[in-house]
Parts: sequence; C-alpha cells; structure tokens
Amino acid sequence: MFHETNDRISGLMQALVVAGFRGEIERNSALRAAMSTDNSVYQIFPDLVVAPRDAADVVCLQAVLDRPEFAGTSLTARGGGTGTNGQSLNRGVILDFRRHMNRLLDVNVEQQWAEVEPGIVLDDLNEKLLPHGLFFAPETSTSTRCTVGGMVSTDASGKGSRVYGKTSDNIVGIEIARGQGLVASFEPTPDWAKPMLAAAEKAARTGRDAFIANTPRLNRRFTGYDLERACPETGGFEWWRLFLGAEGTLGPMTRIRVHLRRIETEKRLIVAGFDSFRDALSAAMPLMEDEPTAVEVMDERVQQLAQEAGILARLPEALRPKGEGRVAYVFVEFNGDDAALLDRRVLQCREHLARLPGIGAVYVAGDKTEIRDLWAIRSAGVGLLGKVDGLARPVAFVEDCVVPPENLTPFVDEFLAVLTANGLGFGMYGHVDVGCLHIRPALDIDRQADRDKLAGISRSVFDLTRKYGGIFWGEHGKGVRGAFLAEWIGADAYKALQGVKAAFDPGERYNPGKLVVNGGEIMGIATTNFRPFNAQEGDALERAFRCNGNAQCLSYQAATPMCPSFKASADVRHSPKGRADALRAWKAARDRGAPDQVMEDDLMGVLDTCLGCKACASTCPVQVDVPHMRAAFYADYFSRHARPLADRLTLLAERFAPLTAKMTPFIRPFWPLARKVAATVMQAVDLPETLARPQPGRDRIALDALGRPLPEGTVLLWQDWFTALFDEALQRDALAGFRALGYRPLLVEMLPAGKAALNLGDLAGFREQGARLADALQRASASGVPMIGLDPAFVMMLKQDYPKYGFAVGQILSPQEFLSREISGGKSLPKAAAGVSAKLLNHCTEATARPGSGSEWKAVFKAIGVALEAPATGCCGMAGLFGHQERHQAVSRKLFDLSWRRHMDDEKPVIATGFSCRCQSERLAGRDIQHPLGLVAAVLRR
Ligand SMILES: Cc1cc2nc3c(=O)[nH]c(=O)nc-3n(C[C@H](O)[C@H](O)[C@H](O)COP(=O)(O)OP(=O)(O)OC[C@H]3O[C@@H](n4cnc5c(N)ncnc54)[C@H](O)[C@@H]3O)c2cc1C
Ligand code: SF4
Ligand code: SF4
Repeated sequence: MFHETNDRISGLMQALVVAGFRGEIERNSALRAAMSTDNSVYQIFPDLVVAPRDAADVVCLQAVLDRPEFAGTSLTARGGGTGTNGQSLNRGVILDFRRHMNRLLDVNVEQQWAEVEPGIVLDDLNEKLLPHGLFFAPETSTSTRCTVGGMVSTDASGKGSRVYGKTSDNIVGIEIARGQGLVASFEPTPDWAKPMLAAAEKAARTGRDAFIANTPRLNRRFTGYDLERACPETGGFEWWRLFLGAEGTLGPMTRIRVHLRRIETEKRLIVAGFDSFRDALSAAMPLMEDEPTAVEVMDERVQQLAQEAGILARLPEALRPKGEGRVAYVFVEFNGDDAALLDRRVLQCREHLARLPGIGAVYVAGDKTEIRDLWAIRSAGVGLLGKVDGLARPVAFVEDCVVPPENLTPFVDEFLAVLTANGLGFGMYGHVDVGCLHIRPALDIDRQADRDKLAGISRSVFDLTRKYGGIFWGEHGKGVRGAFLAEWIGADAYKALQGVKAAFDPGERYNPGKLVVNGGEIMGIATTNFRPFNAQEGDALERAFRCNGNAQCLSYQAATPMCPSFKASADVRHSPKGRADALRAWKAARDRGAPDQVMEDDLMGVLDTCLGCKACASTCPVQVDVPHMRAAFYADYFSRHARPLADRLTLLAERFAPLTAKMTPFIRPFWPLARKVAATVMQAVDLPETLARPQPGRDRIALDALGRPLPEGTVLLWQDWFTALFDEALQRDALAGFRALGYRPLLVEMLPAGKAALNLGDLAGFREQGARLADALQRASASGVPMIGLDPAFVMMLKQDYPKYGFAVGQILSPQEFLSREISGGKSLPKAAAGVSAKLLNHCTEATARPGSGSEWKAVFKAIGVALEAPATGCCGMAGLFGHQERHQAVSRKLFDLSWRRHMDDEKPVIATGFSCRCQSERLAGRDIQHPLGLVAAVLRR
C-alpha cells in the first residue's frame, strides 16, 4: 500500500478547485486522523478528504481523478464511519458523504419509495417519513449516526430482519457516479455506460452458478457482488444489485431509492428471563411458531453490566435478578395492525414460554414508549461491553456470524470453546431468530500475542461458520475480513467477482484492497495497520486511547446533548471521536519528538471548537472527556508557546474576581467602558451589560465565618465568579426561592473555582484556586449546614473535575438535588395557587452527568403544586465564554436554533437552570428567562 506524495496531493487539490469542485477539499491533519478510524481495531490515514456538495461534485472529482497524472489515486466513500471492520478506511482520497449529501430528495407515498442522498442518517430519514406514515425498515443499533449509503454498502440489518429483510431487500435502485456522468438504475442508461454494464453482465452470468453453489440459502443471505440476484431467473440484468453490500469497492453511489413500509399501529413486547444463556438460545426455534417480528437474546454477562450501569432498573421488578443471581433474557416482539391477532399470538407465545426449560419471569408490554425503553436495555449491549476497564477490551472481528437458527446452539458451544481455549472473556447478545449472535472477545491489541489470537480465532470461527452452513459476515459487512472471501466463495465464483470488479473499476481505484482484487494487494486481518490501543498508565490522554469509534457522539439528533460542535458542523473532526483521534496522533508525534507546527495548529483548531459542555465525559460509553484532555494539551502547548492576550485577560479576570466583587460599587459606573475594552481585547460580543449589585449584608456570609454554628434551616449558597459578578437576578431568585420554601439562605463570599484556568490549561492556576475553594467547602461542610451550588456548570465541576485533581469538597448539592431529598425525607413544602404549569430547559452538562436532574425538578415543583414539563434539548450554544467569542458566533447561533429556539414562544413560563442558557435566550430570542428558584418564589408569593 502506498501513500500519495505531497506534490501529487497538492496537484490534485489545485486541479479540483480549477475543475469547479464546490465542496471542501482538505488535508487538515486532525480531519485525516478523524477519518483514519472506525469501530474496528485498524487505522489508516487518508491523504485527502473531500466533502462533495452534490452528485455533480462527485462526477467532477472523478473526472479529475481520471486524468493520467492521478492514476492509482484511490477513492473511498465514507458515511457515518461506524464500520466494525475497517470498511471505510483507506489511503488516498476519502469521500465524506455525511457532511453535505444528507438530504431526502423525494417521497412517493403511493408507490412507497423515497429517494435520498447517501449521507442521510437512518433515524433522520425515518423522522422525516413519519408524517407520511411510512418507514425504511432495516434497523441498526447505530441508527442515530449510520447513513443509508453505508447501510446499503454493508447490507446492514438488525432487529426484525426475519420479517423485513436486510437493507438489500428494501432497495429499489441506485445512482452511481463516474467521471463521464451519472448512471441511475431507474433512468435510461447513458451510452458511455453501456459497455461497462455489458462487461459486468458477462462476468456475472459466467459465475452465477458457482456463486449459487457456494452461498448458503439463509434469511441473512450473502450479498455484495450478488451475482444471483443481479441476473434474476426472470431475465434482464439488475446491475445495481451488485453494489448492495459491495462496501464502496465498485464506486460511489450518489442517490438511493429505498422501499418504504407502512408503520404498523400495534406493538407488543414480551421480555422473558431464563436461568442460563443456553436455555435462552434454545427458546428461539420453538418461539418462531408464534410468528413474532423479532426474537433477541442477551446473556448473563451483558445483564450483569447492565445491572452495574443501573439500566436494569427499567425492568419490572420480577424480571430483575435476585441478589448475586444472573439472568439471561429473551425479547420477543410482535408488530401488526390487528390488535386482537397480536394479543392471540402473545398468549400463545406465553404458553410456549411456560413449557420451556429454565424459564423464569415473563413480562408483556403494550405501550410503545415502554417497549422502546425495554429495547434500549438490549441495545445498550455493545456500549456496555465496550465500557470494560483494563488493557484488554472487547473488539469486533468475529462479532456477527450467522448460522441456520437450528444450528445455533452447537455452533455457539464450539465458538465459546475456541474463546475459552484462548483464555478470553466475552459477552453475547443478538438476533436468534435469524441465527446471528454478537460476540466481542476482549483483547489488548497493542500486544503481539493478542494480535496472533485475533488472527487465530478469526480462522477458527470462519471454519466453524462453514461447518455449520453459515456466513462469517452476517450483519456488519466484511471490511478487511473480506480477505476470507476468495476461499469462501471458491475459485470460479471469485473469478466472476473479479470480472465484475474489473468492469466497474478497471484501475482498482475504489476502496482498494477490500473484498475483491485484480492484482492489487488484499488487506488482511493481521496485516492491516492496528490502531494504538492503550496509553501509558496515568497519561492524561488515556481516554483518547479508549475511544473505540462506536460513533455514539456523532448523533444527528438535535435534542440530545452530545456533541454540539459536531451537530453544528456535521464534520467528524469537531466531535469527541475526531478530537480523540487527533489527540492520539499528536501524542504519538510528541513522544517521537516535537510535532510540527501545522499538526499542532490543526489540533488547536478542533479543540477550540469544543464548547466544554462535558456531554462526552458523561454520555460517551467510555467517558472520552475532551475538556480534560484539552486542558492537558494546552498545558503542554503553552509551556512552549506564549498565550494569546485574550486568554491571559480571562485568567486574570478569574483570579481577581474576588477583588472585583469587593470593589463592585466603585467599578459599576465604569463597567460600560471596561466592557468595551474587554470586548475588543477578547474579540467578544454581548458581554454582560452590568455588574451585579451586592445583596444585603444579612443575606451574605464571609469566608472566615464558615464553620461557625448557624441557625436551624440555614442553607449555604455557593456560586462561581461569573454568576457572582454578573447574575444579580439569580442571587435574588435563589434567596427569595429558598426563603419562600421556609429556609434561611446565605450567599457565601465568592471564591473562583478555577474553571477558566482549567479550560485554558493553566493547571497551576487551577490547582491554586481549586485548593482554596476546596478548603472553604470542607470547612463549611464540617458544620453540617446544607451546601448548595447555584449554577449547574459550577456544581458539576466540583463533582466531576475536582476529584480528578484530588480535591475533596464535602457534600455540595444542586438546588433540586437538595430539595428533592428533603421532600423524600418527609419535608412538606408550601403550595402554589392551582393551575400553574411551566417548562424547564435543563443545562446540558447537568442533564448528561445527572440524568435524573429533570425528574428532581419535577418532584420539587409537584410538591408546590406546579406541573413541570422538561423536554429534551441539546446545548443552547453559549457554554460560558464560547458563545461570546466572535469566532464562534455562527456555531453558537446555529446550536440555539437547533433545539432551543422552538421553546422560546411557549406561553407558559420557561425556566432554565444555567446562567449561560438564560443569557443566550435573552440575546438571541429576547426572552427573559428565570432560574427555577425565581419561579418558586413567584408562584409562592401569589
Ligand atoms: C456499536 C455498533 C453497533 C452496530 N450495530 C449494527 C447493527 O445493528 N446492524 C448492522 O447492520 N450493522 C451494525 N453496525 C455496523 C455499522 O453501523 C453498519 O454497517 C452501518 O450500516 C454502516 O454505516 P455507515 O454510514 O457508518 O457507513 P461507513 O462505515 O461510513 O461505510 C461503510 C461502507 O460503506 C461504504 N459507503 C458508504 N457510503 C457509500 C456510498 N455513498 N457509495 C458507496 N459506498 C459507500 C464505505 O466505503 C464502507 O465500505 C454497528 C456498528 C457499531 C459501531
Ligand atoms: S468518543 Fe466515545 S462515543 Fe465517540 S466514538 Fe469514541 S468511544 Fe464512541
Ligand atoms: S465537551 Fe461538548 S463540545 Fe466538547 S467534545 Fe465533549 S460533547 Fe463535544
């Protein structure tokens, strides 16, 4: 495998610009790092990344690549990058479809099809189809981030595939791009494309019989160069079927026509507990008689991880394990429009279950929300398995074998014997109705011994699938495992596949080295470059190495918190995954000596767009905490380079905030001028207009008074420098709110928490400020008086970051955490007038780190007689200073529009916990939003 020379890539970039390519053309090292990994153990750095705006751009790109000077430059399409086996990884040019080519182009309700660009995300498509009562049926666990282009190319499938089929069973046609133009299977073929299709047809017909002889007749049939279906018995040549499952090796698709199904109105889900996984597995075949839509299993190991993660709490009590006991689960789903029929099937299935060995409790759900929540337990399986600590972690390489369901039990027995012989741990779940099980053994890929195991186990499991009449690649595509294809399909059929490849890709340009080669080198399981797996113990960038590329942080959904900078850009380098990849690459270069300035500038660029919201620290399955790692990088970088003036000013402002607070009465008149100067130096906009006036002395407590006895009912209110200096409304509201609830609140003299210092990597400054605040908190906590932190970002910093630096802070709670505990402890609160309702917009950092915080506020408001709604939202786009910085205006405003703006016109009171969120709502929507405690005070005053 060779990489392009700098000159060639520069030449290609220039040629693309001249040819009129309108999308981005980039060799940014952080972007290339982000594109160098997927969910596999491999890493290949591309030379160039291009993001086409539309199909015309893809044609333009290929016309340039057709020039003799670019012969041999490879082109690999990429969708969501969620492949488990290196599917989208390659050298040369990566074609990023996810960024712009993600539109729904047309829907034909009558004929039940839709046309999409390949980069559309599965859930996004189905959300857009909802108003039509239609959906695209293939389902994947990665539905929030995988694209239809990637699904078609890997022939993805999941729950329900026994009834709905795989992706290839739900496609009507495709459009492909070449340098000469576009070819769509549902439009007349242009003359230039006819010889190409004729050559492919000739090869396909020649190898069809050998292909059929060597592919088992399974529901999860073999696809990718499907010679059988391309040449149907009924005649004709359906060339486009060859592309389904071909993993981009036959070239890029630019338009896909998908078949749609009507959304069924009724659903039932049975969850059954079994004594052992073997019993659960054996249940699959008998239950098939009841005509379910899906039957899935989850083993005791996944159950244990789910229990440790608190997820099993969503299960009805009877289904949960008792004490140390372990349970394996079977999930059986029934879908349809006839409620009575479904109920009969459910009854019949329950009778069947009652007769099966090892059966325990059985639960039936009929409510769609409950069913979704129950499925979420099963879907959490992959993430949970990836969460394992230690050097050896579950990796994908034999994770989706399929055998005829009747052979599943002996196949699994032998499979597990292979793993046991290698001394490996594992967890299992999967789709037993189609004989597909997901098993990810734990390996330390940095160790040669474990790489050898990976190769050895792959070979043994490949042989086992053949022995039991199955397929090695039953769900997730082939990727570098395609190296087994020639052996599996046999010489004659493989020759025909080579003919098809030669017809569509004579220069071996498309995703070279995968599935089928014509003289080129095939990428192998053990010979493809492995990605670094573990950092040195104690390394601050350790979490970057744990990122396994599952891409949960690349969700398109606006109303989820992770990751705002990716949602605003659809550019993977601006995501936790992208940043983790770039940090790992930088670390490798740093360890070899000094990384070059371009690389550090590129890394700076992607770290600067991080809002520091910490959603990744809580929501990523392996807690890839980007702000923590950014602080470590900045600390290293600024030990070698001067800090920008704006950063120095911010650090000074934080350090001297207590002095500013003391001098407020004198500074206030000059604040408008100081604000203008600060805005110019810091290149900031919309800085707070006034300094907060100090609250009356009786409402405050000095630091040196902490620890002294205080009257019954006192609560100490702590705040960080920003809210102390600028959020007078919060101080008033918090005092009034607690007072209205019967407490004696006191605002503690402010000490900065060192948030700015930590964000900017001034670790010495942070340690100094952190030590001072932690000492004050501990002194205060010794008196036993409840301590409440007012701003969520401040409280979460004390809870999440302080322990990482060894600071103990006593028990500091957020207001709702304290009040809901009081209510649970029997405290009764005063009641508001009847009929009040409100909407709460939660702070994203708190919502992700403490998912129960919305419910706690609901409990508090319920106790005072107010009905509270707490819709899911993403980040508001402010995040401390981020939204004030000129360079971030576009992103900040876009994020607000994505999920906050829609709540601004609500007639009922809207309340928000975060200072940043309230500022953002005011400056971008002109809506003056209160802190929840302000509403508490207001409704109790009425
Ligand atoms: C945690 C986890 C769970 C998963 N669960 C499932 C599951 O339930 N079911 C399942 O089937 N898979 C699953 N997968 C695998 C993966 O999500 C699917 O294969 C998915 O369809 C890949 O889509 P993508 O957009 O990420 O494609 P990518 O990974 O970006 O690309 C996949 C292949 O498609 C090619 N490609 C992409 N776009 C085009 C195009 N426009 N033209 C030509 N070729 C193109 C690429 O070159 C590559 O070879 C899982 C993966 C992970 C990480
Ligand atoms: S950062 Fe976390 S969520 Fe994102 S790809 Fe890595 S492990 Fe997955
Ligand atoms: S802190 Fe927020 S913006 Fe930054 S990487 Fe994590 S999720 Fe994305």
